[in-house]
This record gives sequence, C-alpha cells and structure tokens, in this order.
Amino acid sequence: MVNKEKVEEAVRMLLEGIGEDCSREGLKETPMRVARMYEELMEGMEGSPKDHLSKTFTHLDNQMVLEKDIPFYSVCEHHMMPFFGKIHIAYIPDGKVVGISKLVRTVEVFARRLQIQERMTAEIAGAVMDYLNPKGVMVMARAEHMCMTMRGVKTQGSQTVTVVSKGLFEKDESLRAMFFHMVGSQN
Ligand code: ZN
Repeated sequence: MVNKEKVEEAVRMLLEGIGEDCSREGLKETPMRVARMYEELMEGMEGSPKDHLSKTFTHLDNQMVLEKDIPFYSVCEHHMMPFFGKIHIAYIPDGKVVGISKLVRTVEVFARRLQIQERMTAEIAGAVMDYLNPKGVMVMARAEHMCMTMRGVKTQGSQTVTVVSKGLFEKDESLRAMFFHMVGSQN
C-alpha cells in the first residue's frame, strides 16, 4: 500500500532539495498530486497474476496463441523514470487457454511497480508458465526508457528489446523464428 502522507512529505523535500519554493502557487498541490499518481503507478504491487490467470478454459487445438502489441507503462527502479512500449506474449497451450484481457491484466501487474525491463519480461513469462502450464511461452518487450532518452547520452528514439523463451520455444529455433516473424521483428 502506498503511504500517501510519506510520499507527500518526500516530494516536498525533493522540491526543496532542487531549490524550489514549495509554497508557490503551481507547486502547492504537487506533493498531493504526485502521491495520488504513485498510488496508480504502483498498483501492480497489490495484484497477483493468479487473480487473472487462474481462470482458464479448455482448448484442445494446441496451436500457438499470440497476443501482440500490448501497450505498457512502467517505472525504472534505477532512476524512477518511466519506461514504456509494447509487449508480445506467445504460448503453445497444453489444453488450457486464458482470455486475452487476462494477459493484458497480467502485464499490468508486473508493469505497475518499480521495475527493470529484463525482470518484467521474465516475470510475465514465468506467470504464464506457472498458471497455464503451456508447452512453451515466449515474451518480448520493446521499450523506450526516459532515463536514457531524456538525459545522459540522450539516445532519442532508441529502444531496448528483451526476450524470454521457455519450454518448446527454448528448444526449437524454428518456433522462435515463427514468433519473430509473426511480431514483425528482424531479430
Ligand atoms: Zn533507468
């Protein structure tokens, strides 16, 4: 649970720390606004993939299922700056599938918290593996990190790509190639 009073106090200190005047009109409600915003951005900490992935239904045609271009917004834990982009999730069912909106909710559980992209990608793949027990799962995330594009080397427009494959996707290169083809990626 986000402790809003504590976040408000911290934002006031941050404002003072950067040399701002907390009492000027534009900043008066800023600590409160930021605290409320963090409550939303950290919502995933309260959730569990179990809430979304445990309701499965039987499906006997075990062809690859791909949900591509799921948008996500997360916050990098190294700089507390946003990183955001698209996630593709593919799995090969073993008799069990899940509603597409549940995959989107699962992405939100892991995105709405302080994260690093590598861990988020692995956690999503792990959750699909744990709850659907598919023959294989592959997750790819493509994101722009504000901590990179807005500061430092300012690599504007550059993207970070992370991929995790498990089960059949790990063993079978042609399946991985099919995934990359389907999501329209070169690598
Ligand atoms: Zn960062």
